[in-house]
Amino acid sequence: MREKIRFVHIVPVLLMLALLGMGLLPRTIEAQSGITTPEKFFGFQLGSDRKIARWDKIVDYYRLLEKEAGGKLKVVDMGPSTMGNPFLLVTITSANNHARLEQLRQVNLKISDPRGIAEQEIKKLVAEGKAVICQSMSLHATEIGGAQMAPELACDLVARQDEETQRILDNVVFFLVPSFNPDGALMVADWYQKSLGTEYEGTGLPWLYHKYAGHDNNRDAFQTNLVESQYLAKIMFTDWPPQAYIDHHHMGSYGARIYVPPYAEPIRPLADPLIWREHSWYGAHIAYKMEEAGLSGVINMAQYSGWGHFGFHWITPFHNIAGMLTESASAKLASPLYIHPDQLRGGARGLPAYEEQTTFPNPWPGGWWRLRDIVERQKVSAWAALDLAARNKETVLWNAYLKAKRQTERGAQGKPSAYVIPIIQHDPLTAVKLVNKLLAQGIEIKQAAKGFSTSDGMGYAAGSYVVSLDQPKMGLIRYLLGRTFYPDNAYTRNNEGSPIRPYDMAADTMFEFMGVRVDAVDGAVKAELQKVAGPVSVTGKVAEGNFGYVLDGRLNDSFRAVNLLFDKGVAVRRADKAGDGLRPGDFIVAAGAEAVLADVAAQTGVDFNALARDVVPESRELKRLRVGMYQRYSGGNMDEGWTRLLLEQFSFPYTTLMDAEIRKGSLNDRYDVIILPDDSTAMITGERGAAARGRAPDSYPAEYRSGIGNEGVAALKSFVEKGGTLVALGAATAFAIEKFELPVRNVLANLASKDFFCPGSTLKARFANTHPLAYGMPAEGLVLFLNSPAFEVVPNDFNERYETPVIYADRDILQSGWLIGEQYLVKKAAIVTAKVGQGEAILIGFRTQHRAQTHGAFKLLFNALLRRI
Ligand SMILES: [Zn+2]
Repeated sequence: MREKIRFVHIVPVLLMLALLGMGLLPRTIEAQSGITTPEKFFGFQLGSDRKIARWDKIVDYYRLLEKEAGGKLKVVDMGPSTMGNPFLLVTITSANNHARLEQLRQVNLKISDPRGIAEQEIKKLVAEGKAVICQSMSLHATEIGGAQMAPELACDLVARQDEETQRILDNVVFFLVPSFNPDGALMVADWYQKSLGTEYEGTGLPWLYHKYAGHDNNRDAFQTNLVESQYLAKIMFTDWPPQAYIDHHHMGSYGARIYVPPYAEPIRPLADPLIWREHSWYGAHIAYKMEEAGLSGVINMAQYSGWGHFGFHWITPFHNIAGMLTESASAKLASPLYIHPDQLRGGARGLPAYEEQTTFPNPWPGGWWRLRDIVERQKVSAWAALDLAARNKETVLWNAYLKAKRQTERGAQGKPSAYVIPIIQHDPLTAVKLVNKLLAQGIEIKQAAKGFSTSDGMGYAAGSYVVSLDQPKMGLIRYLLGRTFYPDNAYTRNNEGSPIRPYDMAADTMFEFMGVRVDAVDGAVKAELQKVAGPVSVTGKVAEGNFGYVLDGRLNDSFRAVNLLFDKGVAVRRADKAGDGLRPGDFIVAAGAEAVLADVAAQTGVDFNALARDVVPESRELKRLRVGMYQRYSGGNMDEGWTRLLLEQFSFPYTTLMDAEIRKGSLNDRYDVIILPDDSTAMITGERGAAARGRAPDSYPAEYRSGIGNEGVAALKSFVEKGGTLVALGAATAFAIEKFELPVRNVLANLASKDFFCPGSTLKARFANTHPLAYGMPAEGLVLFLNSPAFEVVPNDFNERYETPVIYADRDILQSGWLIGEQYLVKKAAIVTAKVGQGEAILIGFRTQHRAQTHGAFKLLFNALLRRI
C-alpha cells in the first residue's frame, strides 16, 4: 500500500514537469505577462497546509489583477454582504469583449428569451454572441477550496498566453463569484487562525457561518431573503442568464475525492431534456480533464440526486441554465487529514462500494488529504467547464435558444396554461411579496387593467396578476406556483421499501408556503394585460376617522406596522370579538397621531381604515413584550438564525439569550416570551446523547460548549410558572413536553419511516381563528411539515389547561410534497398551548417560520409574541 501511495505522488511531479515545459507555471506566467501571481501576492501557494487567504486580501488581489490584466478582468462590487463586507463579481473575458459587454448582454438576453425573434436572426445572434458561464465559490464558508482556488484560476485566465486560454477569453464571458459568503469566509479564516496549533485545529466554527442562515444559505435561491442571494439572482435570473452554472462545494472526507456532474437519480421533471444532457456533457469533460491531469478519486452521477431543494445549483435547470455542482472531499479546513485506505467507503447513492466502476474508474488510494489537493481538482473542473464552452460556443448558444424556445412551446401547449394571482386575497400585501419574488426570478408577470373571466368560468377583479406558461421559465413557474408531488418509486425507496430521504425539501411551492391563493387556469386568458415592469410597491393610506383606526389583523405587515407604532410610542389595542366591521385579531389605534400613522402606512403598505364607532373601551391594549431568542454554540442553529431574520424583517425587537443567562435564572425580570428554536433536547440541555445534532460538544473549545443544564431547565420552568411564555418550535417541543411534564404526546414519535414519512411538504390544517394564537389566519390553510411532531393531549384531570388551536385536516391532508401514513395525522394537533402555573408553553410542531419562507404561517408565531399582557 505504501508503494502505491508513493507512486501516486510521482504523478503530480511528472505533471509539473510537463506544465513547466508548456510554460504554464506561475514563475513563467509572471515573467511573460507582468501579472502578479497569487503565490507572490499572498506569500504562499494557495491551498498550502495551514494557510488560508483572508477575504479582504482576496478582494485586494482581484483589484490588483483588474489593474494588471489589460482589460481582460473587471471587478464589480455588487454591494455589501449581510455584515457589510464587499460582495464581488469578477468578469473575465477578452478586452474586446469587455469593450462591448452591454451589446453582448443584449445578445445573450435575446437568445435566453427568443420570443418574437425569427430563427434567421437567432443564427446571427449565436454567431455574434459569447457563451456565458457563471461559477461561484465557497457558499458554505467552511468549504474553503473554491474561494482559495479562484484567484489562481483568474490569474491563469488573464496571464496564460496559450491558444486554449485565448479561446476561452474570446468565446466565453465568465462570471466568477469569488466568494458567495464573504462574511463566512472571514469568520472561518479568523477561527482557523485562532485554532492553529491547538487540539481544535481545523474544526468547524462554533456559530453559524452566515449571520442568519448558516449552511442554509443555499436554500434561499427561490425566496431570496438574503442579500447575497439577491445579488446572484440579479446576475443569473435577470441580467446575464448564463448557459451553465457551477457551484463549488465540499462534502464528507471518506468517499470519493470529488463529485462532478451529472446528478444521480431521481431527477426533477419539467426542465428541458437538453439540460440533463448538458450536465452529462460538462461532467464528462470535467472528469476527462481530471484523469488527463492524473487526478484520482473523481466520481460523477452519484450522491447528489437531480431532484433537490431550490438552492442555486438545483433551481437553475428550470431557468434553462445547466446548473451543476462539484463537491470535494474535505480536509480539516487548511490542515491535512490522514485517511487509511480501509477508512474509504462507498454506500452513497451511485457508489455502493468503494471500488472501480464506470463513473469512478480511478479510486484514490488513501493517504494524506490536503487543501491543495482540493484546490487542484476544483481548478481543473472550473477550467474544463470554460474550455468546453469555448470549444463549442455556437452549440452552447444554439441550445440555449432551443431550451428557451421549446420550454415556451411546452408552456403554450400544456395544462395549465397560466396561473392567476387574484388581487383579492386573504393577505394581499403578502401576495404582492410573492409577485416581487417571482419578478426576482426573472419571470414575466402581467397585470389586468380591467376585470376578466377565464374560459373555465372564473372571474377576476382588475389588478389581478397573470403568469402565463408560454415563456422560457415555464418549468420554474410550474414548481413555484403549481402543486408538486415528489416521486414515490424505485429510486426513492430502498430494497426494504423504506423511503429514501429527499435532499432537503420534497416541494418548493412558494405560493403554498406564503399562503397566497394562486389559481391554475387551463383555458385561454382573454384580458387586457400589461407587463409588470419592476417590483410592485404598495403605499398604505390613512382614512379620515373620528373614532380611530383599524388595521387588518389578517395582514402579516400589520404586525410590522404595530411594531413601528410601538417604536413611536403609539398605543395599539386588539379586537377580540367580531362586529362593527371588526374581526378578532384586528388592531385598533386611537385618533391623534395621524402623522406617525401616515409614515407607518407608507413604510408597510398597511391601510389605517376608519372605525365606525369608538370601540376602544371594549378592546384590549397590547403591551410590547420582551422577547428572548435562545441561541447556542456547537455550530449554531440555523433555525435560530432564520427566526432572528424574520423578527427583524417584521420589526419585532428581541434579545439573544444564551446558556449562561438562562442558568442564572430570574428570567421574568427581563423577558415575557422566550423562543426555543427547532432543536433536540440533548442540544438544548447539553447532555450528550444519541439524539444530539451536529458534532459532540467536546469537539469545541470549552467556552463554546453549549447546554442550559439542569439549572437552566429549572430556570425556564420557573419563568413559565411565574407568568412567562415559552414558545417551542419543531423538535424543541419535545424538550418542553419532557421537562415541563406536559400530558402531551407526539403521535409520530415511534413510527418507522416506512409507516410515516413526510419530508418538506405542505399539509392542510384548520385554524381556530377566534383563538388569540390563530387570530388573522384563515379557517383552513396550509402548514409546512418537515419531519415535524404532531400532538394529542393525553386525557388527564386538567384537560382544560390545554388547547389545540391548529389541527390537521381529516382527509386528503397532503397538498404538495410526499406523505406516507396520512392516517397518523388525521385531526391531530399541530399546535398545543399548555397553561403551566401563571404562564404558558406554546408548542408549534410544524415549521411556522421556516427559513423566513412560510409567510402563510408567520402570524401563528407573531401572535405568540403579542397576545399576553
Ligand atoms: Zn456545501
